[in-house]
Amino acid sequence: MLSTQTIHIEKTNTSRLPQVDFSNLEFGQTFSDHMFVADYANGEWQTPEIVPFQNFSLSPANPALHYGQAIFEGLKAYKNEDGEISIFRPEANLRRMNLSADRLCMPAFPEEIFMEGLKELLRVDADWIPTTAGSSLYIRPFMFATGEFLGVKPSDTYRFAIITCPVNAYYSSPLRVKVEETFARAVEGGFGFAKAAGNYAGSLYPAKKAAEEGYHQLLWTDGKTHQYFEESGTMNLMFIINDTLITPALSTSILAGVTRDTIIQIAKDRGLPVEERKVSVAEVMEAAQNGTLQEAFGCGTAAVISHIETIGYRGTDYQLPAVVNRKYSPALAQELNDIRLGKKADVHGWVVKA
Ligand SMILES: *Cc1c(COP(=O)(O)O)cnc(C)c1O
Repeated sequence: MLSTQTIHIEKTNTSRLPQVDFSNLEFGQTFSDHMFVADYANGEWQTPEIVPFQNFSLSPANPALHYGQAIFEGLKAYKNEDGEISIFRPEANLRRMNLSADRLCMPAFPEEIFMEGLKELLRVDADWIPTTAGSSLYIRPFMFATGEFLGVKPSDTYRFAIITCPVNAYYSSPLRVKVEETFARAVEGGFGFAKAAGNYAGSLYPAKKAAEEGYHQLLWTDGKTHQYFEESGTMNLMFIINDTLITPALSTSILAGVTRDTIIQIAKDRGLPVEERKVSVAEVMEAAQNGTLQEAFGCGTAAVISHIETIGYRGTDYQLPAVVNRKYSPALAQELNDIRLGKKADVHGWVVKA
């Protein structure tokens, strides 16, 4: 049985910190000095390590490269004015990672080792957590097969690792999105609910096509009928119609976002009616035309909320009310950020101190 006391730590003696411009970070390009690594072999997780960020050595017959047995997560940590490190809902991410692992026939990672390993990693790289307004440390846990064979079957060995990236506030202009009725991101019975590498590889081509038509992102519809909305790019999708927050109900083809869950709770706390149900394209496009579609946005860890300004549907662009006039989503994003930074009471116990 693994004990949390056994994390082996090897610190770098050549920190890259002095070379980093913390006011100009491109998302996902700058990595902190250390990473957490644990290997699975002989039916159990071996002693985890925190080591300098470095390349892995892999067999050319690695099954993750050939057959996609690979999953990941994304969450954030912050430093408050007292220098305390807080992590937002890490247990929710580990739970989801273990659901992804189960769907891809990979072993679950123990929660206690994850929490201790993550906290220790954040303490070791504490100086990498930015403190300027809106900045944070993006945390990327991932797991992949490390077998050395060709053949479609589950690997016997795996690697679990966590790398981190300091990131600045995520400013994006309001989105132009296109309703996708030809391609599908995921289908019922598939593994769209898992944060599995292959789902993202498959989304690149439709997204590229939409970009060529001038759209930032796709509004994915269900793979069977293309009549119901699912997600927006790699974010969950929400609408405000008639002063009600409406979002597609979870299914095997929708990723259960932690931000989605958090926004739904905050909305309910504020007395905003919430409906989690099938949301048809027809209903939303009708609301866009008769003026009852007040707001639309994607939500996820990276941007919290990305406002949707234009929806392209069958060759016509529909304009939504200007973001400055939106009553609900800016306030929901603000409240979520205030809770993450400890400026607002954390009544749901979402914030974990490292
Ligand atoms: C990660 C992800 C989301 C958002 O999940 P969060 O936990 O809120 O970051 C939504 N949809 C897809 C497809 C995703 O990969």
